[in-house]
Amino acid sequence: MNFLQERIEKDGRVLSERVLKVDHFLNHIVDPALMDQIGKAFSNYFKDEKPTKVLTIESGGIAPAFMTALYLNVPLVYAKKALPSTMDHPISTEVYSFTKQKTYTICMEQEAIAPGDRVLFIDDFLADGQAFKGVEDLITQSNAILCGCGFCIEKSFQKGRSYLLEKGYPFYSLAPIQKMVDGKIYWLED
Ligand code: 5GP
Repeated sequence: MNFLQERIEKDGRVLSERVLKVDHFLNHIVDPALMDQIGKAFSNYFKDEKPTKVLTIESGGIAPAFMTALYLNVPLVYAKKALPSTMDHPISTEVYSFTKQKTYTICMEQEAIAPGDRVLFIDDFLADGQAFKGVEDLITQSNAILCGCGFCIEKSFQKGRSYLLEKGYPFYSLAPIQKMVDGKIYWLED
């Protein structure tokens, strides 16, 4: 087990066979030292892909993506869930939220990702891959290259993993969950 799997077992809570609560250290109350370890791990794994930008979606992905960008020494861009009036040339797409069970729009400034940028996508969870598909669309609209995807937690039993494997994108999950049964987490490599 790595540092994140140990922390999930200690402080995470299995709410159901499909939902894990990690908001005491990852996506509500945020542990900066843990984010530092996550940033180091993702930057080491993806440095040879030579990312020029790290991209995430607000808000759960921002902390791990920020630390990854810091270690890679590249800018972080986060797609927004509401269109600010200050955005000059927004590009947008629709995303279905697994946890909220509704569709929302994500947007970003067109100039945030330049044509030819090598984009590393970082997020807190991979579940059905809907957030990823939204980001994939924004990257296509920007004529940029998706050079990798890093997920803190992957629920491997949902659809996202097979979509990513099918597409052949380099991806890495720090804590891949095979299943959650009776409050217990079974890791993919177990
Ligand atoms: P996907 O788009 O891959 O279906 O879901 C990814 C997004 O849904 C993540 O960014 C995360 O915010 C949320 N999410 C998915 N599964 C879980 C879960 O088990 N727990 C929490 N806290 N969020 C989740």
